[in-house]
Amino acid sequence: MKTFDPCAEMASVRHEFGEHGGVNMSIEASTTFTVMHADTMPEIFRGQFGPETGGCYLYGRHFNPTVFTLGRQLAAMEGAESGYCSSSGMSAIAGALLQICSHAEHIVASHTLYGGTYALLKDYLPRVTDIRTTFVDVSDPDKIEAAITTRTKVIYVESLANPTLVCADIPKLSQIAKKHGLMLVVDNTFTPMIFSPLKMGADVVVHSLTKYINGASDIIGGAILGSKEFISSLMDLHQGSLMLLGPTMDPEVAFRVHMRLPHLAIRMKEHSARAKFFAERLAQRGLDVIYPGLPGHRQFDLFSSLCHPEYGYGGIFALDAGTEERANQLMEHLQIQCNFGFIAVSLGYFETLMSCSGSSTSSELSDEEKRESGITPGLIRFSIGLTGDLEQRWQQMERGLRSVGM
Ligand SMILES: *Cc1c(COP(=O)(O)O)cnc(C)c1O
Repeated sequence: MKTFDPCAEMASVRHEFGEHGGVNMSIEASTTFTVMHADTMPEIFRGQFGPETGGCYLYGRHFNPTVFTLGRQLAAMEGAESGYCSSSGMSAIAGALLQICSHAEHIVASHTLYGGTYALLKDYLPRVTDIRTTFVDVSDPDKIEAAITTRTKVIYVESLANPTLVCADIPKLSQIAKKHGLMLVVDNTFTPMIFSPLKMGADVVVHSLTKYINGASDIIGGAILGSKEFISSLMDLHQGSLMLLGPTMDPEVAFRVHMRLPHLAIRMKEHSARAKFFAERLAQRGLDVIYPGLPGHRQFDLFSSLCHPEYGYGGIFALDAGTEERANQLMEHLQIQCNFGFIAVSLGYFETLMSCSGSSTSSELSDEEKRESGITPGLIRFSIGLTGDLEQRWQQMERGLRSVGM
């Protein structure tokens, strides 16, 4: 029996009508809000009467109604008590981690992370805050346990690691986190709808809304989902990382993201179906393809046991072209001659995006770190789009492959 469906949960959030009865919600552009009684103001400043507790709005960098609605929808999708949005995925990640960790505390993180997150943890936080991170293979519980110290506060992972598509065993990680009194923070950017980390025991989910959730590669945004208490703490007027560092989401941006949520489930299903189709065809051709939806993938069973199956195995696969040179030739051919997609970083666009991970999104890693996490020089990450006819797209791909002798 179905217990939790992200799409149904999101649809259960009360519809927000526009101020003239419009079927779309209005954009609340005000940066400051009135109170009816002057004595309400001190209460809000003491953090006792904000919108998250049924009170009122104060100032645009604190809660904004339009941004708050988007936060509530994303919280529903993730099965969170509460949620709020920020100006980018990176600000959501940094905001969440800086809220949990104080000076000189410690994080245990996966050794395969988005390049920006990796640089934040490895270089920036140690320099500025003395918050240190130990990077481990999170599929090995012994390695995680061994890395935990008395200063550790967080276990940090991505639901599906970039670009090797290793999926995190969130229930197991949650057990370890609970045993040591740590928070498990999961970046679910690659797999909205597919995985519900909070339902598997994670404490906080972060998203880059720049990818699948927005779907058109035209908006940068982020979100943090978790307990009411945690989201309120981010907005604390004296100690809140979102409130005080100020990576605020603009209400017009929140509105635009909100308008794409109704078709997120449909898009995810289509991205997944197409990625699976390509991964299968490429594997049949004898090529070295990584996709968690292929029964030969070493985590096919784990992924299958954790995902909501109707949304598939995600829209991303990786193809090893052998060398960086051949990878580049293939991508150029697919972009210029075949019209198959674009050579660009990022993912979740309605068109196909291709990038050679080792020299782009994972270039923050040293050669040895890349080897350890399985990022080979010729590895191309494909974020499969959803336009065009599938057979037409396969013919384009085949032409590209033939042109580089693959
Ligand atoms: C893109 C991305 C981020 C960063 O998001 P921005 O919106 O670009 O700041 C973080 N994590 C993952 C997995 C990403 O793909």
